[in-house]
Amino acid sequence: MKIPEVDSALLTKFLVELLKSPSPTGFTQEAIALTDHVFCNLPGVKTKRLPKGGLMVTIPGENDDAPRGLTAHADTLGAMVKAIKPTGRLMLTRVGGVIWNTVEGEGCTIYTREGKRIRGSILVTTASIHVFGEKLAETPRKEENMEVRLDERVTNAEETKALGIGVGDFVSFDPRVELTNGFVRSRYLDDKACVACLVEAVRSLSSAGVKPAQTAYIYINNYEEHGFFSAADFPAPISELLAVDMAAVGEGQTSDEYHATICVKDSAGPYHHGFSQRLRNLGDEFGIEYKVDIYPTYSSDASAYWRAGGNMPIALIGPGIDASHNYERTHTDALVDTTRWLLAYLLN
Ligand SMILES: [Zn+2]
Repeated sequence: MKIPEVDSALLTKFLVELLKSPSPTGFTQEAIALTDHVFCNLPGVKTKRLPKGGLMVTIPGENDDAPRGLTAHADTLGAMVKAIKPTGRLMLTRVGGVIWNTVEGEGCTIYTREGKRIRGSILVTTASIHVFGEKLAETPRKEENMEVRLDERVTNAEETKALGIGVGDFVSFDPRVELTNGFVRSRYLDDKACVACLVEAVRSLSSAGVKPAQTAYIYINNYEEHGFFSAADFPAPISELLAVDMAAVGEGQTSDEYHATICVKDSAGPYHHGFSQRLRNLGDEFGIEYKVDIYPTYSSDASAYWRAGGNMPIALIGPGIDASHNYERTHTDALVDTTRWLLAYLLN
């Protein structure tokens, strides 16, 4: 059996659109709507919005006696307005595990209750070297020392409130997407890269006119960065769950930006050995040059599924992402390999 053609241009085109749709955990409606739109336009594919805001995609298979679950997440790191300061600037609280150093100087958008979008940037409170001297380097980058400078003429809290900004408004950081020499450089490749791989895998199946071996349910989670999973939302009991999420690249890791990786153990423990072996065998059979890795500070939707009461085998594959939860980067080669691996899995 041959794997149907993967269209890397289509994959990247959707990925860029998705990267540009803001989706901090809890505020994912735009990214979920975009993903829903592309999936539901594929023949035979059914989608359903879930009560918590996620998306369930059903792809009918040749067989339906052992349906498979796959998952990737559309939510990302971000922030929320914690307080309006007397200067009119904003104090933030983190959504997901944002490390403040990684967003210092970044552009951001505040989403007001009335639906206005207000622009600004994230700065340390001692941002000017000419005023604060050595303090600029020495100030710890923590919540109380970071603020949003709004691109609005405000000098006090009342003027900021008059813009419609309030405590609890979501804030997204600019992804700064750039494509160069096959590289995709952007925030939030975790895990939008994998959502795009799943979309392309299903598109490729449908354009080749083939069905998966078993009915597949793809759950696009919108609460991963806070560790929540909805095991109860699958339309029928699944026989296993494949999480598709980024591979961690860095010193001591086998993963790199040019390959897909299977993770056999992370902070939550070992993945299911039998399921992982099957995926490795499929990779070998279909000529996918994958890496095998262990992630020291990581957990995925697969372990969240077990914590949420799921009791079926789990595994994790995904493209190598450099500088994760920072200004990330991957390469199209890793995205194409991940998609081909997904196709090999779905078809066998
Ligand atoms: Zn992730």
